[in-house]
Parts: sequence; structure tokens; C-alpha cells
Amino acid sequence: MLKFTKINQENPGKIAPEKRVKSFNEIYAKYAAQKAEEQASRCSQCGVPFCQVHCPLHNNIPDWLKLTAEDRMEEAFEISSSTNNMPEICGRICPQDRLCEGNCVIEQSGHGTVTIGSIEKYITDTAWDNGWVKNIKPTEEKNYSVGIIGSGPAGLAAGEELRKKGYQITIYDRYDRPGGLLIYGIPNFKLEKDIVTRRTQRLKDSGIKFQLNCNIGTDITFAEINKKHQALLIATGVYKFREINLNQSNFNNVVPALDFLVASNKTGLKDKVDDFLNGRLNASGKNVIVIGGGDTAMDCVRTAVRQGAKSVKCLYRRDKTNMPGSQREVQNAIEEGVDFKWLTLPKKYSGNGSLNSVETVLMQLGEPDESGRRRPEPKEGTEQNLEADLVIEALGFEPEDLPKLFDNDNLTVTRWGTLKINYKNMMTSLDGVFAAGDIVRGASLVVWGIKDGRDAASNIHRYLENKFELSKDSQRNALNGK
Ligand SMILES: Cc1cc2nc3c(=O)[nH]c(=O)nc-3n(C[C@H](O)[C@H](O)[C@H](O)COP(=O)(O)OP(=O)(O)OC[C@H]3O[C@@H](n4cnc5c(N)ncnc54)[C@H](O)[C@@H]3O)c2cc1C
Ligand code: SF4
Repeated sequence: MLKFTKINQENPGKIAPEKRVKSFNEIYAKYAAQKAEEQASRCSQCGVPFCQVHCPLHNNIPDWLKLTAEDRMEEAFEISSSTNNMPEICGRICPQDRLCEGNCVIEQSGHGTVTIGSIEKYITDTAWDNGWVKNIKPTEEKNYSVGIIGSGPAGLAAGEELRKKGYQITIYDRYDRPGGLLIYGIPNFKLEKDIVTRRTQRLKDSGIKFQLNCNIGTDITFAEINKKHQALLIATGVYKFREINLNQSNFNNVVPALDFLVASNKTGLKDKVDDFLNGRLNASGKNVIVIGGGDTAMDCVRTAVRQGAKSVKCLYRRDKTNMPGSQREVQNAIEEGVDFKWLTLPKKYSGNGSLNSVETVLMQLGEPDESGRRRPEPKEGTEQNLEADLVIEALGFEPEDLPKLFDNDNLTVTRWGTLKINYKNMMTSLDGVFAAGDIVRGASLVVWGIKDGRDAASNIHRYLENKFELSKDSQRNALNGK
């Protein structure tokens, strides 16, 4: 270990931009075994590992790096998977620059961070290749069932942890495939779909039931499933998209980001998507404008490039350094030919029948607002028109109105519409109903969804143990005439 002074940082190969935009395949290669060992050996094995502190799952990173450096891969996999239900997924899509790698001590000393994410991905991909990822076999089956609404990372992680303890699990989802945003939000070039489906298939093979195409609140009432299970977890994510209210003419070629991404992902999975086939959600041959500066906007611009758009512009009202998206993804988009218009605000949509141009105005950054970020202000007289055949609005997501959807006014929400939970036990205002992931945090990250799912599982287990041990006691008392 400690080889960072002798071995330079080396990331796995990245496919050249002109080649990678021709397909939706992942853009990073897998390390060769020797390279993974070498790169892992750069770790300085800090006494207080800041990478671990800043990983939401507190993964035992120095331990699995050391085991990888020593070619003890099965042990590395055991340690890595003991704190993370999908290490190969986090290794691919965590914004490591803001989490583990951004806090690596050798990065701070100017040697370039240990490539933690790529090694994490390498360990578990190797485990899958070698058949070390086994189905779950609980030591005892329990007669208690837990219902989980939502099969995104939070729901899947909770389901897996509870199944390990022997609970009977049913996961309900309104989509036709499990995985939430892992399957239908995040594009293939960041996360290929067979990586997600082998995970969900393993859960099915481990006895977890998936009830798909099942919208709770429409197809089955919330009250019905609440009655059916001894505990419930709400892990429904956030899906109401934010609008900028410029589309008073209801132009059909102004579309929400997630509709565009879902259509692309479904098409990639060989589904027939009418709005893709008829061109509404297809960027091929078009001048595309994406509005927004987060990860969703980056996924949209890069998808549009791969669909064969004529031009792709991204409008963002602040500057590059203030973009909320991962800088790695911004850089990938620049390499792939996206034209970024920083400090630019859309002002008006124009067209005749369908939209054909967007009027924009330049912005400057003024005094900081309540959040501390400098407020963007328009520079009068800088208006210009940009040609557009397709506008994709990627301005973020908010929670749906769950008390209304679930027809339960006792389900308490915060002023942002996210579910209010008791942070000591993750229970909502309803007894035995827990919540986790984006529906509690607001739009967040996969790794936080996994963390919440794991925590919710521990709390649900504790709740069920207490509840049923108590009722056993009271049964015993009743039998004893107390
Ligand atoms: C385009 C995009 C790209 C992203 N890229 C990244 C990234 O690169 N890295 C990263 O870490 N994070 C990324 N994120 C964020 C990440 O995907 C989310 O934070 C994470 O998926 C949240 O997990 P979750 O389980 O809470 O919810 P979700 O993944 O949203 O899953 C919720 C599930 O609940 C289901 N559901 C909702 N309501 C109901 C109902 N009434 N009945 C039945 N089912 C219901 C939904 O169909 C869905 O399957 C991205 C998000 C988006 C939108
Ligand atoms: S889960 Fe994410 S933050 Fe944690 S070690 Fe892996 S890549 Fe880093």
C-alpha cells in the first residue's frame, strides 16, 4: 500500500467522444485485474479515512482497497457488499468528486485521488462474473409481511435487508419493470440496464414478490395494502416536474425531461414507444434546447446527442462553477459536443402551431440570496432568439400530493410536500408506515436512497419485533389469566 508516490492515478479507459456518441453503451471500460490491484495499492490507509466518513454508506473503503491490492477479491467483495446493496451501481454513478474521492487524503496532497468508484465497480463486477453473488437464503422464514411501495434504490435496499431477516416482502410499483430511476431515469451510457436487471432478478429469485403495473392510490387503495401487511414502507421517489410557465401556447414539442428519458430508456429496452416513434420524444435531426443545469439536464443533452440531434444547446441561468450537476458529467457533455449557454435564461417560447424558437436573455450574478448563492439577474438589452425544434425542460422534481393520492389526510407532509418522518425510527405519522429515499429527502442520490432503505429496514424489523413480542406476551398473560 501507500504506493501513491510511485504509481500515478489512472482511470479506466474512456471511449473517445466521436465513437461513444454513436451508441448508448457505458463510456468507461473495466479495469484489467493488474491495473485494479495497482490503483488500489495507492491508498494511504489513513487512520481516520475521510473517504469513508464522506461516503453516505460509510463503506469500509480502505479495507476493500487493501484486499484488492492483495488480489483477495472474494474477501474484498464480502466487505464491500456488507455495507452496500449495489456497490457496482454506486461505483458507476455516485458523484465521487463530491463524496468519497473528493475527500481522499492523497487528493488533498496533490497526488490525485485513489479511483475508489472504479475499484468498487471492479470488485462487484468481478464477483458477478465469478458467481460469488448468491441469492438470499434466510436462516428462518417469518410469518410477517412487509409491503414496499416503490422499487427504486430505497425500496430495493429495504426489501433485500428485510428478506435477509426472513420477512415476506411484496414490492409494488406503477412501472412495468422494477428499478425506479435506475431503470427508467438514468441513461444506459451511465448505467447499462442489464446491471440493474441482474440485481432485481436476484431479489425475485430470493423470494421477493414484485407486483408491477400497480399504481397505489389508483389500482389498489393505500388502505387495502396497509391492511394486508404488518408494516409498510413508502419509497415512491419524487416525480412532479417543475415547469417554467413559458408554454402558454401548449406547444407539443416542449416536453418534460423524464418523459424524454423514459421514452429513450424504454426504446433501448426494445419496447415500442409511440411518442418516440412519432418523433415527439425523439431528438433525431432536431435543434434541441435543454433547460436546466443538474444531472437530469446532463442526461438529456447527452441522450439527444446520441439520438442524432442536429444541434444540442443547454441553457443555464448561472455560470459553470455554480452548476448543480456533477462536473464529471458536464465535462462528458462538453466533450460530446453540447453547446452550453451559461448565464442564459429562456424568456419566451414562440412558434406557429409548434414551437420554433426560444427568446433568451443573458444574466449576471448579483448579491447572494438566502441560500448564500449569488442571485442571477437579467441584463436588459441582451435578448436573442435561438432556433429550436424540441425543448426539454429539466428543472427538477417535486413530490406528488401523497395524502391526496393515498386518500389519507393523516399522512403528514412537510411544507415541501415530502413525507414527514420521525428521524428516530423513520416512521411517518401513521403507525407501522415508514418512508425512505427521495420522498423524504427530496430529489437526491442513489447512494442516499440505499442508505435510507437500509436504515428503514432496521427500523421496521425493530418495530415488528417489539409489536409481535408484546402481543405474544399479552397472549401469554391472557392464557395465564392476568
Ligand atoms: C435523470 C436522472 C438522473 C439521475 N442520475 C443520478 C446519478 O447519476 N447518480 C445518482 O446518485 N443519482 C442520480 N439521480 C437521482 C437518483 O436516481 C434518485 O435519487 C434515486 O433513484 C431515488 O431513489 P428512490 O428509491 O427514493 O426513488 P425512485 O428511484 O424514484 O423510485 C421510486 C419508485 O416508486 C414508484 N412509484 C411512485 N409512486 C408510486 C405509486 N403510487 N404506486 C406504485 N409505485 C410508485 C416509481 O414508479 C419508482 O419506480 C438521477 C435522477 C434522475 C431523474
Ligand atoms: S458508495 Fe459512492 S460515495 Fe460510497 S464509496 Fe462508493 S462511490 Fe464512493
